[in-house]
Amino acid sequence: MLTKDAAGALPSEETTPTTTAVPGKPQLWFDGAFVDADSPRVALTTHAMHYGSGVFEGIRSYATADGAAVFRLPEHLERMRQGAELLGIEFDVARATEATLAVLRRNGLRDAYIRPLAWCGVGSIGLDVGSQTQHLMVATFPTNVHLGQDAVRLGVSSWRRNPASSLPPLKLCGAYVNSILAKRESRRNGFDEALFTDADGDVVECTGANVFMVRDGRITAVAHRDALPGITRATVIELTGAGSRTVTLDELLDADEVFIVGTAAEVTPIAAINQRIYGAASTGREIADLYQRVVRGEEGRHGAWLTHV
Ligand code: PMP
Repeated sequence: MLTKDAAGALPSEETTPTTTAVPGKPQLWFDGAFVDADSPRVALTTHAMHYGSGVFEGIRSYATADGAAVFRLPEHLERMRQGAELLGIEFDVARATEATLAVLRRNGLRDAYIRPLAWCGVGSIGLDVGSQTQHLMVATFPTNVHLGQDAVRLGVSSWRRNPASSLPPLKLCGAYVNSILAKRESRRNGFDEALFTDADGDVVECTGANVFMVRDGRITAVAHRDALPGITRATVIELTGAGSRTVTLDELLDADEVFIVGTAAEVTPIAAINQRIYGAASTGREIADLYQRVVRGEEGRHGAWLTHV
């Protein structure tokens, strides 16, 4: 029988991770070692499981002509570091970088979704954080080459986004219950995804993506203090020269095109918001194609955004 160490974690199968691809079961990186991705590793009294005291990232790697490359890895890990700092979780960006590259190599993946998670473990079940053990894991999931989602329909949520004055827009685990509730509601109402607006009627973001609109050929990134400052959003602004400002829901409904952006969503044109149906998303599709070329290293001038595995 396996016994737990002081951290409440089961011992790892290996203590010295190697980085050669191992065929078979996917593995993840957990506190410095590779373990089977589906093996239970944490105690049921894990603080993060009870209170959401963790921080995660959603990152992607892509197949390029020079092998796998992670898109904007330093930016993702810097955002994660900020979330960890807020929770008092020690976070070493260099270690997380190494872990990310190592697990990609280990699983032999090129097109992948990468999920690092840092969390408070065991030691105390009170709300004070600091006395618990702290952990880091990095998992990878193979992604299909661009899914080309075609007819994504947004429903305006009756839920408000967590206000930044209550929960800063970082990828703190507990904050995502807000997204889960909105997603559940939108699915129940027959939509694919939820759109958050605030009490003034301004657009905030979706449950896991930022919003853009196109009006008379002008591209605008929706800005809102409660929205996550997305890395894809920043990328698309840089690629297109889009302006960034507050946008009302009325303006969005009146736009020629709407598209959402995020690491998972990439650039996804929106077919409808509630009963409003949009026409052909020609600008959105052009930007989606450009984004694909950038993440796959086909636009040489943006090569600095890629960390080769
Ligand atoms: N908003 C929310 C709430 C998100 O979870 C995400 C995904 N990380 C985004 C926006 C898009 O951010 P990014 O482009 O950095 O993935």
